[in-house]
Amino acid sequence: MTHSVVDQALAGNAGPTGTDTKYVYSFGGGTADGNGKMKDVLGGKGAGLAEMTNAGLPVPPGFTIQTEACREYMRGAINPQVDIEMHAALERLEKLQGQKLGAGVNPLLVSVRSGAKFSMPGMMDTILNLGLNDKAVEAVAKLSNNPRFAYDSYRRLIQMFSDVVLDVEKKKFEHIFDSVKKREKIKFDYELGPEALKEIIAEYKKLVKKETGKEFPQAPLDQLVQARDAVFRSWQNERAKTYRRINRIDDWLGTAVSVQAMVFGNLGENSGTGVGFTRNPATGEKVFFGEYLMNAQGEDVVSGVRTPLAISELERAMPQVYEELRTITGRLEQHYRDVQDFEFTIQDGKLYMLQTRNGKRTGLAAVRFAIDMVKEGLITEEEAIFRVEPNQLYDFLVPRLVEKGEKIEVLATGLPASPGAAVGQIVFTAEEAVKLYAKGHYKSIILVRGETTPEDIAGMEVAAGILTSRGGMTSHAAVVTRGMGKCCVAGAGDCTVDQDKKELRVKGRTFKQGDWISLDGTTGRVIAGKLKTIDAQPDDPDMVKFMSWVDPVRRLKIRANADIPRDAKLARLFGAEGIGLCRTEHMFFAEDRIEHMRTMILSDNEKTRRDALKKLLPMQRADFVGLFKAMESLPVTIRLLDPPLHEFLPKREDLLVEIQHLEDTKPRSPKLKELRPLLARVQELHETNPMLGLRGCRLGIAFPEITEMQSRAIFEAAVAVKSKGGDPHVEIMVPLIGSIEEMRHQATIIRRVAAEVFEAKGASVDYMVGTMIELPRAALTADQIAEEAQFFSFGTNDLTQTTFGISRDDINNFLPAYVKAGIFKQDPFATIDQAGVGLLVEMATAKGRNTRPDIKLGICGEHGGDPESVKFCHRIGLNYVSCSPFRLLTARLAAAQAALQEKQEGQEQHTNS
Ligand code: PEP
Ligand code: MG
Repeated sequence: MTHSVVDQALAGNAGPTGTDTKYVYSFGGGTADGNGKMKDVLGGKGAGLAEMTNAGLPVPPGFTIQTEACREYMRGAINPQVDIEMHAALERLEKLQGQKLGAGVNPLLVSVRSGAKFSMPGMMDTILNLGLNDKAVEAVAKLSNNPRFAYDSYRRLIQMFSDVVLDVEKKKFEHIFDSVKKREKIKFDYELGPEALKEIIAEYKKLVKKETGKEFPQAPLDQLVQARDAVFRSWQNERAKTYRRINRIDDWLGTAVSVQAMVFGNLGENSGTGVGFTRNPATGEKVFFGEYLMNAQGEDVVSGVRTPLAISELERAMPQVYEELRTITGRLEQHYRDVQDFEFTIQDGKLYMLQTRNGKRTGLAAVRFAIDMVKEGLITEEEAIFRVEPNQLYDFLVPRLVEKGEKIEVLATGLPASPGAAVGQIVFTAEEAVKLYAKGHYKSIILVRGETTPEDIAGMEVAAGILTSRGGMTSHAAVVTRGMGKCCVAGAGDCTVDQDKKELRVKGRTFKQGDWISLDGTTGRVIAGKLKTIDAQPDDPDMVKFMSWVDPVRRLKIRANADIPRDAKLARLFGAEGIGLCRTEHMFFAEDRIEHMRTMILSDNEKTRRDALKKLLPMQRADFVGLFKAMESLPVTIRLLDPPLHEFLPKREDLLVEIQHLEDTKPRSPKLKELRPLLARVQELHETNPMLGLRGCRLGIAFPEITEMQSRAIFEAAVAVKSKGGDPHVEIMVPLIGSIEEMRHQATIIRRVAAEVFEAKGASVDYMVGTMIELPRAALTADQIAEEAQFFSFGTNDLTQTTFGISRDDINNFLPAYVKAGIFKQDPFATIDQAGVGLLVEMATAKGRNTRPDIKLGICGEHGGDPESVKFCHRIGLNYVSCSPFRLLTARLAAAQAALQEKQEGQEQHTNS
């Protein structure tokens, strides 16, 4: 992120160029003040318009007010220079066009659009047809010889302007509009004639007066200034803030505002407007891709209100325009060396390019684009590595529906807007989805909407999949879900979504909230009921090829957190280079084991405890044999028992209820004899703060026989595997160490048991004893602990919990408030807090290496699969990161990007010095 700009904003500086700040940049008419590299200043849209002008493309002229003005607006006052420069730029524009903004004769009309450095589709506001007023509308009616078009544009302006600038509710306008439509008995908006539209305009104006106490502004400059400021304000609206939070975009960047001469796609059947991609953004195929509508304005295509036509239709309808569009977009792709997402308008048969930017894409498409563009010689392999966001690689691992042998009832087929599969219970509003999900009522939600709008963003975030009945491949639902890597079926026209009744009606059937459906985002099918899903195969040839470029570049090793042989095998399939964390407690929850575990916990003497442990030993040994075999000669880190013992016992409240019930109904039941002592032991083990109680190495110190049994099972398994020609690499890890004394205590037992097993079996294996660093005291005394520990694995889940003093299980109670208040930028359990927790990791790394230079250092908390945290781990020089199998591809790519970035920065420094 651009800290320089942010720092300047916070410091209240005038801007990137100090007091000489240039606020307004003109473009079009053959020249542009800016260029495509100036996204910080002009936003993505403004920079794109400047760049397109420079490339000689047919861009309607205009000017961009830079982001610094927005930051000034947020700080409370815009420099008066902004207005001065804006007036000058407007004059230039008027001259170029031979028109005057809002004039009674030949008026200039403009669009006013937001555009931040990072694309935030649909999050901020846009105003079209600005400059229209009571006089200008008559002039446009005459000039265009199309009064319907003129009045329709004016009523759209009033509606948009009032919503965005004057804060008058949209639905009040819609009410007026719909009642006239009803009275006129028409179905489509475009059937409304000029007289009806005039009447609507009069009603709209009355509404504005009533709601705001003022007339709808007639002076074009007033309209322009108010619209500009409203766009600045829209940077701070809730949906934009949510989008920035999810996408980790800095709140202080601000948006630029681009003001551009309007061209009209709704002048008649020889006009139209559309959007497209130079390649398919869902599948990555190299096919020209897009959609358009004739006689329409931009938002008609993207809002999903009318279902657009495929761009291939344009080839038939207007072959020359189509050819020109192909040539221009092809040039754009070569120029930007990336897939372009573009907007165009055809006004009276003449093509204008309105916007171009690097297209958002699914993970599948990102990898395919990267591979193809390297083949085409457009980019290098190194560049290709940066063309895929690490988290996008999930797409190769997204679930698919199980279909073989299942009876499938396809309800409808919509557009395959975002691939993958989702199976869930249907919910009809975003708010409801958020509520039901937060309360845990529904674990998997399919959000069903007529069409989604940016207000739905929070609901879309919690949903497993999205279904819409309207809209195309570039509708809001499609674009946003693709970015989120979520399954989406859009524009399923056979579905009727009744938001009021909360019903989805299709094929004569009615589905209500809570009913299950399945979506296939790769084919667009909507299927009744709850299908099973299968995991994706990570053997896609393009992905395998891509990873073959990625892996040689990284320095970090990537391991997996895997507890059972099945997970270990999956982990190897996804490229794990070892197991960084095997949580042995997970093995005890199996049905055949929990009973022995409970006997062990319930016994009040060592003898019965040892007897129970003896029964568990062969089972543990078999687990470890499976793991060692699955991992062959790769290292396997096995952690000794960690959680508080009560986790293995029934809940106190459940026992109380069961005992009470039996006492009331069957007071002589023998079960009571079993349950009462169980309850007594549960009460005994009850702790106020179990996460800070009898857990981790404290268990092995209080009950050394547990450590003994586990160590024995590990060594016996390793010796057995080795005797059959295997090559196990054993690392035994002691959890929750806070002092060298604890470490020494446990290491002594482990080493003693190893010697006993090796002697008894007449064979030995190499092994290491190490610890987790997951308490601040362990980090602070890491130099001492390293005297005993041969490796450290940073348990950043607990380390975050204990450093912040925040319960990892309860953070959601206040995290939203913290994010909203700007105290946390993100969940510290998801992305490592570099300044605090990260500092402890860095410090322990240095201290550990100081004592034991060859100490092995890794991380096994959830952060091990988070791209930003992986990059941090690279930077501080850890040896490996360990994460869940499904995050392995992500971690591998993040590690490679970190290494490459370091190399490039090194080269830059070298050149600069
Ligand atoms: C940790 O604390 O980071 C860790 C990996 O252990 P667990 O999540 O099992 O406590
Ligand atoms: Mg832990």
